Amino acid sequence: MPAPADRIDALRARIRHHEERYYVHDDPEISDAEFDGLMRELRELEAGHPDLVTSDSPSQRVSGRPVEGFATAEHLLPMLSLDNAYDDGELSAFDERVRKGLAIDDPVRYVAELKIDGLSIAVTYDDGRFVRGVTRGDGVIGEDVSANVRAIQAIPLRLSKAPAGRLEIRGEIYFPRPAFARLNEEREASGEPLFANPRNAAAGTLRNLDPQLVARRGLRAFFYHAVAPPDVDPDPLPGSQIALLRTLATWGLPVEKHWQGCDGIAAVQAFCASWADTRRQLPFDTDGIVIKVDRREERARLGYTSKFPRWATAFKFPAQQVTTRLLRIDVQVGRTGAVTPLAVLEPVLLAGSTIQYATLHNDEEIRRKDIRPGDQVLLEKGGDVIPKIVKPILGVRPEGLPPFEMPTTCPECHSTLERPDDEVVWRCPNPSCPARLRRSLEHFAGRRAMNIDGLGQALVDKLVSLGLVHDYADLYHLTVETLADLKFDAQARRADRVAAGRTARADETSGPRVLTPRRFGEKSASALVAQIDASRRHDLWRLIFGLGIRHVGERGAQALADAFGTMAAVAAARVEQLTAVGDVGPVVAASLRRFFDAPESVALLARLEAAGLHMGRPVPESRAPGPLDGRTIVLTGTLQTLTREDATGQLLALGAKVAGSVSRKTSLVVAGEAAGSKLDKARTLGVPVVDEARLQQLLDDPTRFPVL
Ligand SMILES: [Zn+2]
Repeated sequence: MPAPADRIDALRARIRHHEERYYVHDDPEISDAEFDGLMRELRELEAGHPDLVTSDSPSQRVSGRPVEGFATAEHLLPMLSLDNAYDDGELSAFDERVRKGLAIDDPVRYVAELKIDGLSIAVTYDDGRFVRGVTRGDGVIGEDVSANVRAIQAIPLRLSKAPAGRLEIRGEIYFPRPAFARLNEEREASGEPLFANPRNAAAGTLRNLDPQLVARRGLRAFFYHAVAPPDVDPDPLPGSQIALLRTLATWGLPVEKHWQGCDGIAAVQAFCASWADTRRQLPFDTDGIVIKVDRREERARLGYTSKFPRWATAFKFPAQQVTTRLLRIDVQVGRTGAVTPLAVLEPVLLAGSTIQYATLHNDEEIRRKDIRPGDQVLLEKGGDVIPKIVKPILGVRPEGLPPFEMPTTCPECHSTLERPDDEVVWRCPNPSCPARLRRSLEHFAGRRAMNIDGLGQALVDKLVSLGLVHDYADLYHLTVETLADLKFDAQARRADRVAAGRTARADETSGPRVLTPRRFGEKSASALVAQIDASRRHDLWRLIFGLGIRHVGERGAQALADAFGTMAAVAAARVEQLTAVGDVGPVVAASLRRFFDAPESVALLARLEAAGLHMGRPVPESRAPGPLDGRTIVLTGTLQTLTREDATGQLLALGAKVAGSVSRKTSLVVAGEAAGSKLDKARTLGVPVVDEARLQQLLDDPTRFPVL
C-alpha cells in the first residue's frame, strides 16, 4: 500500500487530468461514474488525513458554507472595455487607424475570437495556484467572488504547467445553453421567476452567496487574456495573442477553439460574416467577434485611448429583430397565483420560428416601455430565449391609443389582486382559484413530478370546470365511468402554455384551431386510471415536488426525501433541521414551514394518505444484481419492433435505470424514428447513441455490448 500522502497526490493529479480532458479538451477519457469514484476515494482519504488537505485539492472547490457577501479587489491592470464596430465599414476604419498608428501599409496580423456573451472574470494564480477570482466591476475594482469561481469545475485550481510568480488570467464565465434550459425548466416547475437569458443566469449565479448552488449549476468559462505584473523580468507571457491562446490551453485553461489568425481586415470581415448565422449552432451565446492586433510589440506601440485599447475592437452581430402588431395583452394566472401579462402578437417569423406570444413580465415593465395594445412593436430574440418586446414604434401609433390597464381582479375567480410592497408581481390570493388549481394539477401530474401521462391541459380544464377535482387527492377518486363520458378536445392548448414553453411549433401558432370535442372513451379512461394508480407508489420525492411548494424544486425534493425518509418527518422538521439538508437554504426552509403549518396542507396530506399514496421511503427490493446495474438509459423517438413500455420493462429487469432526459450521467441513448432534442443533447454531451437494432442486441445479451 502506498503512503496516504502519495496516494492523495496521485489521485489529485489524475482528477486534474480528467477535469482538463472534460472541460478544456471536451474529450473525456473516463465515465462520470469512474470520475466520481476517484473523487470519492480522494474525499475519504482526506477525511482520514485532514493535515494533508490543501486548498488547491480538487475536493476543495466548495467550502460548504454560504459566503456573507463580497469584498472588493483591485485588478492588476484595469480591465478595459472595447470599442465596437457594427459593420464592414467600421471594421475598415478600425484597420486604417491601426495601420496609421503603426505607420505601415502592409496588412496587419489580427486574431479574431468569438465574443462569449457571459460575465468577465479575472482569475489570479500564484505559481500556478488559484488565489482569487474577481468580477470586472468598474474595470479598476471588482467584486471578489473567489468562493464561487472555485466552485466552477471548468476553472482549474492549479495550472497544469505552473509559470512562476503572479498571473491574472482573464476570460468569460458563461451558462451553456442546455444547462440554462434545464435551470429555467426547474425554476418554472418550482414556481420561481425565470432568468431572461443565459447571461443573466450566469450573473445571478456568480453573485449568489451559496457556492454549493454555483457548483450545481454547471457554469463554464473560456479564457483569452493574461496579465503579468509590469515589473517582472523576464516577461512570462508570449509575444503574440495566437501564442498566448495556445499557451493558456497548455496550462489547462479552457480556450474557445474557433479563433482564427487573419492577415488583413478583409480576412477579419470574412470571418465575422461566416459566424453571423453559424454561431446559433454553438452550445453557448455569442454576441460578436473580438478582433485584436496579434503582436504584443505592435499593441504596445498603439497603446490606449482614455477608454479603450487602440489595438482591439468588438464586432457586434446585428440583433435579430422584427416588427409586428401587438393585438392585445392578456393576463395569465400561475400556480403560485402570480398574475403576469402576456403579449398576443400578429404571428411573425423571427429567427426561423413563428412568434405569436411574448412575455411582458409585469405591468411596471409595460408602463416603463409605454407598450400599448394596438401598437406596432419591435420584437427581439437571442439564443434560446423567449422573444421580448423591445419597444413600441411611436411614429406609427394611432392617435388616442389608450395605455394598458392591469386588471385589479383575477380574470378567473375575480378575487382582488394583491401585491406585497417589495414585489413587482401581482398575485391572486385565492388558494382555490380555478386557474391556480389547473396549473397546480398540471405540475402535480407532470413528467418530473407524479408522471401521470394522459392528464393533459385539456382534461385538467374539463375536470376543474366540472368541479370533479378540487385538489390533488380528488384525482385518486376518479373512476373509469366518470372519465369515459367526458367530452373535450384532447389537442387543445392554452395560449399561456405556448408562451411559457420554448419556441412554439408552427402548427401551434397557425391561426385559430377548429375545436372538435370528442368523448374520452373507456380505453383512454382505463389507461389514465391505471396511470393515476401507479403514481400512488412513486418515490416520496416526486410527491414532495408535486405538491408545488414554493421554492422547492426537483433536487430540493430529492434531498428532503433522502434526508427525512417520510413525509411525516419532513412535515415535522424544524427550520434548523431543514436547512441542515444540502440544497435547502433558509428561503426554502421558511417556505416549507409555511406550507406544512397551514391547516389546509395538513388536511390535504391526510386526504392523500387516505387515498393510498406512498408517504415513506420505499423498501428496497432485494434482487440479484443485473448486468446493467448502475447504467442509465434514455429512450427517444419511435421504436418499430417493441413498444416503449416493453423496452423499458426489459431494461429495468436487467438492472438499468430508464430516465426521461439526457444528462452527463446518461450511459446510453436509444434513438428510434424521428428522435428529436434528446438525440441532439446526447450528441452535444457525447453520450453514446444506438439505434433500435443495437437495442435488441443489448437486450439479447447485455454482457457482450461494447458501448457499456
Ligand atoms: Zn384567481
